[in-house]
This record gives sequence, structure tokens and C-alpha cells, in this order.
Amino acid sequence: MSLAALLKPLEQKKIKFFDDKKKFNWHPELMLDDAPMQTSYLKDLVTPVQPTNPLTYINYLVEKGQFYHFLNTGRDVITRYEFNDYLRWCTHNLSDVLNFDSKIKEIRFEKSKFKIIKENETFFSKNICVASGPKPFVPDCAKKKIGNDVFHAKSKVLQNLSLTGKKVLVVGGGQTGLEVFRNILHEKWGRSEHATLITGRKNFLPLDEAPFTNEIFTPKFVSQFYHLDQNTKDDFTENLLLASDGNTPSYLAEFYNELYLDKFYKKQFSPYRISPMRWLEDIEDRQNSQCAIIRNKLNQQIEELQVDIIILATGFTSALPSYLEPLRSLISFDGQGRLNICHDYKLKTSLEKNHIYMMNYSRHGHGVADPQTSLMSWRSAVIANDLCGKEIFKNVNNKSSFLDYFNEENL
Ligand SMILES: Cc1cc2nc3c(=O)[nH]c(=O)nc-3n(C[C@H](O)[C@H](O)[C@H](O)COP(=O)(O)OP(=O)(O)OC[C@H]3O[C@@H](n4cnc5c(N)ncnc54)[C@H](O)[C@@H]3O)c2cc1C
Repeated sequence: MSLAALLKPLEQKKIKFFDDKKKFNWHPELMLDDAPMQTSYLKDLVTPVQPTNPLTYINYLVEKGQFYHFLNTGRDVITRYEFNDYLRWCTHNLSDVLNFDSKIKEIRFEKSKFKIIKENETFFSKNICVASGPKPFVPDCAKKKIGNDVFHAKSKVLQNLSLTGKKVLVVGGGQTGLEVFRNILHEKWGRSEHATLITGRKNFLPLDEAPFTNEIFTPKFVSQFYHLDQNTKDDFTENLLLASDGNTPSYLAEFYNELYLDKFYKKQFSPYRISPMRWLEDIEDRQNSQCAIIRNKLNQQIEELQVDIIILATGFTSALPSYLEPLRSLISFDGQGRLNICHDYKLKTSLEKNHIYMMNYSRHGHGVADPQTSLMSWRSAVIANDLCGKEIFKNVNNKSSFLDYFNEENL
């Protein structure tokens, strides 16, 4: 949508965007009422590269008559619910280029063009941009059990769930796991008999939002990072995990306060346990329930937990989307089977004149900012410039950073 928002006013390119959803909805499975965005509302679809574009968050507030009231809230963080409403508002403005209810089945390469195959229609295009999202990551030990009792948090099962009288285990202590667990205690899905959260981490670890850490969400950092050797990149990415995958600090504080008030005063939450340093090793069937086999990473002991429901908040992974399989032989992968994506988001392929741009598939190549909304407008501007063959968005090659890894700044 960010790319659509930047390209549409140019009226130079014939563009079409397809999405399989009936109508726009941003991660509806995880649209929990209390969930905060982890990114500034100013990093919307367009503002960082084109603040004069009509689809800024500020314009959304003005058009909806909410501008002054929003300022009066004093917030610099919006909820996911508000972000979704902003995006939905954008879809109305982009309705002539966005096509919903449009599942792409297959993309082939024929007669110097990409052949894009929908259910009942086929389109041809010189270039394509792929942005169909990371996939839920399911640990191997849970794969055989996936269904209504064991499922990833980003799944439809969560929307129709009943936990009344059930024992539930949440696996994962990142922001999604924390949100799901807090909502279980608030009986969003009914009053559970008891709830356990396990996390392989040492604790709920806060998102690192310090100013110097946030330099990694700048175009200059991404450019420098891109040119590091792969081992250094993998090391950086692992060490900077909490810049993208930590828990929102204000959310942690609110949740801790709730636990405090409940434990010592209200005493309403059903029994619960938060268990860090635990790893799900297996899930076994036991008398109409599941037995989670859990390793305690501190003493290596195996702990067994009998539960009815297991919710996996085990993160996301990116892989070649299945509709691109017919192009596999043209595509370049690295030694670990990951996509080789150029600095300007073009997938490395054996094609000379046609390009596949990939959005959010290059955490290993472009760093932790890659699957985040944080730099989405910048990524879109880089792609838009490349597609148009000129620098329409002038600020994308922002050369400045307080962190200089290669002595690029003149003293
Ligand atoms: C709950 C949640 C909260 C997040 N919050 C933040 C945040 O606060 N800040 C941040 O920086 N990042 C956040 N992220 C991470 C990331 O920025 C978002 O996931 C972002 O939406 C990724 O954008 P995307 O376009 O790559 O994929 P998506 O938003 O997943 O969009 C992909 C779209 O492609 C469609 N699609 C898939 N396959 C096909 C097909 N074959 N044909 C047609 N359409 C198809 C999907 O239905 C979907 O609508 C969050 C992620 C999640 C899951």
C-alpha cells in the first residue's frame, strides 16, 4: 500500500495491486484492543519520503476531524486499532489501483513478461513487486499437532476461541505472546482454568528504543549494513534482536501493575504462571488433552504440563511464496537457502530486463528494519525510483547517520 500510495499520483506507470483478503484488514487475528504500535505514527505509508502526499496520518486525522483531539491525548504511540483504521481509510483513496479478493495462484515468466495468474483472470507485467508478508513460524515439534487445540497466534482459530474452563499454554514471550497472555487473564476468550506462559528468553525483555539503537531504522544504517559480510550481518541481527522483537516497555509496566493489583487486592485472575527459560520440546497426546514437554534451560530438567489448548506465539519467518515456485529456477539463493536480494530490493535472478522487487524478505540482507513498518515508505521510495528510472523521491539516499561504520563522513 505504501508503494501504491507513492506510485499512484505519478500517473506514469500502469500499476495494479492484488490482495487475497475480501477487504482490507491489518492482521485481524491479532487485533487485540490493548495492542500498541511499536512504531511512530509519523512513519506512516508516505510521510518520511513525501509528507505532501495526501495519505499521511496527519491528513487522515484532519479529514476525520480528529486532529486537535488526537494532539490533546498527548500520545506519541497509537494503537494497532487506530493504525488499521488509517490504513483502511487509505484503501478508499487507492481503490482504483488496489484489488481485494484477488488471490494470486501462480506467477510464471512467458514471452518476456511475468504472467500473473488469479483464479479467473491472468495479467501480464514487465515487473512485479512481492509483498505478501512473513509466514507464521511453527516449531517442528508442534507441526504434527496443528489444529483447533494447537495453533499459531496469527490464525483464525484465535478469533473463535473459547477458553472457558480450559487449561492453556502460551508459547513465546515476545510482544504477541505477552498480549495473548494478558488477554487470557482478562478473559477475552472466557475464564480459563489456568494459564501458563513459557518463553525461552531470560525474562520479558523490553524493546530497545534508545536513540542510538533507533539509528538502525535509518536509510543510512541499512545501506551500511547491506555491505557488511554475511557472518557479520547475522551476528549484528542476532545482537540487535530487541530493537525489533522486544516487549513494548509501557505495555510491560501496565501489565506488571495489573498483576500487582490483582495479586494483592482484586484477586480475580484465574491461576497463572509465567515461566522464563523454558523450551517446548514436544507435544504428546494424553487422555483428551495435550501434554507439553518442556525443557527448563536453567537445570535442563524436563517438565510436563497437561493442557487443553496451546497457543504458539513463536514468531514469523519469510520464505519464497508458493505462487513464485514456477520461477524458482531463475532465482538466486544464498548458502542457507535465503533469497539474495539486491540493495534496491530487486531479487537477484537470471532475468536481464524484468525485475522482481521483494518487500520484507531480507532481514538477513538489510537488517532488522526489514520486515518492520518503520522504513516501509523509504523502501517503497527506493523501489519507485528504480521503477521510474529517475530519482523522483529525492530524500531516499539520506547520507547522514551518527554511526559511521566505514569512515564515510568527512571530518
Ligand atoms: C500483530 C503484528 C503487529 C505488528 N506491529 C508492528 C509494529 O508496530 N511496527 C512495525 O514496524 N512492525 C510491526 N509488525 C511487523 C510488520 O511490519 C507487519 O507485519 C507488516 O504488516 C508487514 O507488512 P507486509 O506488507 O510485508 O505483510 P502483510 O501486512 O502481512 O501483508 C501481506 C498481504 O498479502 C496478502 N497475501 C498473501 N498471499 C497472497 C496471495 N497469494 N495473493 C494475494 N494476496 C496475498 C495477505 O493476505 C496480506 O494482506 C507487526 C506484525 C504483526 C503480525
